Amino acid sequence: MRFEIVTIFPGFFAGIFENGILRRALAERLVSVGVHDLRAFTHDRHRTVDDRPFGGGEGMVLKPEPLAEALASLGIEPKAERHASNAAQAGPPQVVLLSAQGRPFTQALARELAAVDRVVLVCGRYEGVDERINQLYCDMELSIGDYVLSGGELAAAVVVDATMRLLPGVLGNEASGDFESFGVADAEIAAAEDGVPRSQHGAGGLLDYPHYTRPAEFGGLRVPETLLNGDHAEIRRWRREQQLRKTLANRPDLLEGAALSKEDKKLLEAIRGERP
Ligand code: SAM
Repeated sequence: MRFEIVTIFPGFFAGIFENGILRRALAERLVSVGVHDLRAFTHDRHRTVDDRPFGGGEGMVLKPEPLAEALASLGIEPKAERHASNAAQAGPPQVVLLSAQGRPFTQALARELAAVDRVVLVCGRYEGVDERINQLYCDMELSIGDYVLSGGELAAAVVVDATMRLLPGVLGNEASGDFESFGVADAEIAAAEDGVPRSQHGAGGLLDYPHYTRPAEFGGLRVPETLLNGDHAEIRRWRREQQLRKTLANRPDLLEGAALSKEDKKLLEAIRGERP
């Protein structure tokens, strides 16, 4: 899979992909990232990428011409032409505009993007990008949360990180993404998957359960006994209960769309019953 990032601050990405899983995935060529300087597609002495907004108001707006040229240099045609010429091909590139006005970036969306061969990420700055770039070229507007960043670069890095770790071979255990917060349900995890510890559940849209490591006692708190007794069925039950507890406490909205078994529902009822 390849990411192309269009930005006025290419230097922003200098160190960001040089750590941990992403560095390894890049070195092993499981993923590649191209960073493209928008100013390279300007033609004036000042390398101007922005201009004042029509209609007045604060700030500046990224001009459409350099963005269109940058996209053309990546072989990205306007949407209408691209979709017509890609109709017969599998996996046309996805052009994503990072924007606070976009649809929320979720794990489900990261899974969708991980199935695409090439994703182009357009980073806005100032008041944003001339809307015609969105209309003509972008397949989706993506927001990483309900807050306003000063630029799309951090958001692009978030999208690259969350998406690339779902690519086959990037995480040590191929299934491990399934066992994290927002992961898929048990029913969607191949039963024959090697290395799947049966003390774990597919999250099925819930938050993860709490994790502990040595020492068994720290700060006056002992690791829950269940995790020390080696009974995988019991550990699995405990972890599921914790997932339900944590989701109910921190993200009750997720429970509505979660894949809950009969047993989950009973547990949830019991947990709700404990509340004053
Ligand atoms: N005027 C815009 C608004 O009110 O929605 C905010 C523009 S913001 C200062 C500049 C750029 O940062 C945006 O064009 C976008 O690329 C990026 N950005 C800001 N917040 C974001 C978010 N929550 N998710 C993704 N990108 C964001």
